[in-house]
Amino acid sequence: MEALTNRLKPVDRHKMSLWERIYLPAVFKGMVITLRHFFKRKATISYPEQVRPFSPVFRGLQILNRDEEGRENCTACGLCALACPAEAITMECAERKPGEEHLYREEKYAAKYEINMLRCIFCGLCEEACPKDAVYLTETFAPSNYNRNGFIYGKEDLLIPDPKTDPEGFAKARGSRINNPQGHGNER
Ligand code: SF4
Ligand code: SF4
Repeated sequence: MEALTNRLKPVDRHKMSLWERIYLPAVFKGMVITLRHFFKRKATISYPEQVRPFSPVFRGLQILNRDEEGRENCTACGLCALACPAEAITMECAERKPGEEHLYREEKYAAKYEINMLRCIFCGLCEEACPKDAVYLTETFAPSNYNRNGFIYGKEDLLIPDPKTDPEGFAKARGSRINNPQGHGNER
């Protein structure tokens, strides 16, 4: 029968000599190879203590953005959900009431906003589609989970800290992609 690859290697069944039967030369040969690798530059890093730099186009977990006054940017227009090829985004819209101007920037806001991370392919189209500077993909990985429900990220998971009460958390959550205008395409 014709081989599928050219990697076929017939087994050598010749009678072993005394030199081969004591195995010491083979052991030393193996140790020399190990020692050679000892002094080579390591290909691995000690993650999570050390982290490799991300590519400038890396796209990770989404966040829902706030403006400098801490108001939610999202107006629940639905464009991100419409643009999403994986149908991963769902939301429910609500109307801003008088006295809530300090909470929501627009007259409408997302009372519920969910992203199904099991569906998301991190394409970034939601970020591109958003006219309100509200949804961004950051440099954070989606953490692993044993439960499928844990991958449904609600508004409470996505919304970044209020800059007025937690300026450090706000800057950290936005990360370098949002703070660096070259890292993305929808600065407004
Ligand atoms: S990154 Fe792509 S797949 Fe994920 S929610 Fe946004 S549009 Fe959908
Ligand atoms: S995140 Fe942006 S595109 Fe999506 S509903 Fe909110 S304002 Fe609209």
